[in-house]
Amino acid sequence: MKTYRKELWFNTPTRRAFINITPQVTDCVRDSGIQEGMVLVNAMHITASVFINDDESGLHQDYEDWLERLAPHEPISQYRHNRTGEDNGDAHLKRQIMGREVLVAITQGKLDVGPWEQIFYGEFDGRRRKRVLVKIIGE
Ligand code: ZN
Repeated sequence: MKTYRKELWFNTPTRRAFINITPQVTDCVRDSGIQEGMVLVNAMHITASVFINDDESGLHQDYEDWLERLAPHEPISQYRHNRTGEDNGDAHLKRQIMGREVLVAITQGKLDVGPWEQIFYGEFDGRRRKRVLVKIIGE
């Protein structure tokens, strides 16, 4: 069995962002040389997500609006977590609902995904360096 590990780094200029990381994950699969296996892609921070959905700007705005209704950033005093002096209580909740990781099959050296499935990094407390782990196992 072969293994491959890589960290993808991000530093978004905005507090919240969605970034399509399918090209980077595709590069990792190619570089791993693995033909049959699995790739795990997970955020390594508790205020960011990795998820799969459509690369469609209206949907991304819908996520932004929906997440802000569920867990508005302001007022920051509404979150007990922020009593620690942080201001990212909302980002922890947003990360929870959008998920930590995705697991994708690799078949014949390629991501075995549906026609509209794209892998995204979801940032909810950006403007600092954060990373995503890509771990591939197979043969
Ligand atoms: Zn926090």
